[in-house]
Amino acid sequence: MIVTKKNIEDTIIEAKKHPMDHLLRWDRLPHVWCSGCGLGSVLSCFVQAIANTGIDTKKIAVVSGIGCTGRASGYLNLDVFHTTHGRAIPFAIGLKLANPDLHVIVFSGDGDLFAIGGNHIIHAARRNADITVICSNNFIYGMTGGQLAPTTPIDAWSSTSPYGNVEPAFNLCHLVYSAGANFVARWTSLNVRRLEKTMEEAILNKGFSFIEVLPPCPTTFGRRNDFDTGLKMLQYFNDKTVIKHDIDPKDAPIIFGDELIVGKFVDKPDQPTLDDRIARISVKSKK
Ligand code: SF4
Repeated sequence: MIVTKKNIEDTIIEAKKHPMDHLLRWDRLPHVWCSGCGLGSVLSCFVQAIANTGIDTKKIAVVSGIGCTGRASGYLNLDVFHTTHGRAIPFAIGLKLANPDLHVIVFSGDGDLFAIGGNHIIHAARRNADITVICSNNFIYGMTGGQLAPTTPIDAWSSTSPYGNVEPAFNLCHLVYSAGANFVARWTSLNVRRLEKTMEEAILNKGFSFIEVLPPCPTTFGRRNDFDTGLKMLQYFNDKTVIKHDIDPKDAPIIFGDELIVGKFVDKPDQPTLDDRIARISVKSKK
């Protein structure tokens, strides 16, 4: 072969291709996330997990709401829906009921899912709707300027708690488990391999599957709370994380300064799902 500038360039382009390229929309990159943010790592685990499941990508739908995490859907080369604030869960349930063959995954943030969308998520868990929910908890409303959220740890500083937070935070894993979720896990964005594996399991699990992911948010949470770089927060995760599987999520609250419990807390497959119950009554109604 004659070596030309063109075929050297083509070889370089080919060598630079990443095995997950086909799952990302390169025309939408670079992303909007801040330097030091952990959301890129979470998205990277997610696309790898999707590839690992072996599911036909035509049978996957990803739904997100508003906020920093909500922007993830726009970067995925899948059928994705960027919905209004707090409404990712009902949108996802509607998709699943209309097309039970779909694997429907909600990928959104703590403010979207547990504040504005809080009512939707508890009822989705109660119904054991067959969807997977990946909630990135950055302890704050990030995109809107760092306001106090229901996940902000007690005593933490935010733009609307300039003297420290006086409200206890939700333990998201405990909340969804109490409501009826059959798969519940938590990892930080530092636990990339474990997070990736758990995402794969959650996507393949039948029933309401919930993963809480903790990424560093140096810009709106960290800089007010002694973590002004992503690295400082990752170091904190590294120092404080303790892995405990198969525990009651109520025993894993997030209290800053204490040990940070992560792991696969609950995995109870084969519980009847909302789709199963609907399929049962539609058979009855046809008799
Ligand atoms: Fe990430 Fe926080 Fe910046 Fe949002 S505000 S992109 S969560 S670092």
